[in-house]
Amino acid sequence: MNLYDAHNHLNDSVLAPHLDRILADLAATGVRRVVANGSCEADWHDVASLAATHSVVLPSYGLHPWDVGNRTPDWQKSLLARLDADPRAGVGEIGLDRWMLDRAKPDDPHFIGLRRAPIEEQLEAFLWQLSIAAERNLPASIHCLDAFGPLFDSLRTVKRPARGFLLHAYNGPAEMVAGFAKLGAYFSFNGGFLDPRKQRLRAVYAAIPADRLLVETDAPAMRLPADREQFPPLPATDGTLANHPANLATTYAALADWRDMELSTLATQVEKNFLRLFAR
Ligand SMILES: [Zn+2]
Repeated sequence: MNLYDAHNHLNDSVLAPHLDRILADLAATGVRRVVANGSCEADWHDVASLAATHSVVLPSYGLHPWDVGNRTPDWQKSLLARLDADPRAGVGEIGLDRWMLDRAKPDDPHFIGLRRAPIEEQLEAFLWQLSIAAERNLPASIHCLDAFGPLFDSLRTVKRPARGFLLHAYNGPAEMVAGFAKLGAYFSFNGGFLDPRKQRLRAVYAAIPADRLLVETDAPAMRLPADREQFPPLPATDGTLANHPANLATTYAALADWRDMELSTLATQVEKNFLRLFAR
């Protein structure tokens, strides 16, 4: 079975000490491609060097909404240079995030040293990056938390990549799935959704058309519940525990269970979807 991780951060420095083992585990579990997303300017070099040395890695470059507030004056020029340098490159991780503004705690460790950009500023960076993806027909990988209304309204009114775009770890309402799909959305299921508190997402992932389903880990983020992890978490230098990217296989199995379908049927469908969106 060929597996595809539609969204991770294999370039993340917390995974670097474990990279050889991770690559071996990915190969052993049948992972054929992962889309490694750079989220800020400081990430982009590592994404490029990983993609240059490991054929399993498809590079993607973008400015994540959490990083919009700390962009440099040259960010657009640097992003265009990265996209010019590799015809396989996608645009992402980009997006909109109101959770960070309205619900994340003031001392949330994710935001140490970051200025949280207001939604208008996020929107401006998002729309510019989306316009580049549309112009070049590149796959765009989109993060959205607590901003599905504004995301839908902006996607509806602008030019989108003809090949489609990814709503990564989609956790919006089931009722919005059809509307997003009509605009070209793919939706990637994440193993973190197996948390018993996220049961409502079963209905969401039942509503997604089969030809728009993808699977992802977001590793090193979004761990599966500990009892569902096939690969134990990797100790990071900052004392946290990182999601092992090879937990993709378990994530596929869980989605097959949620959708009440054979794992091999799901894997064949996801392969087609992944290649349609990401292959060049
Ligand atoms: Zn991500």
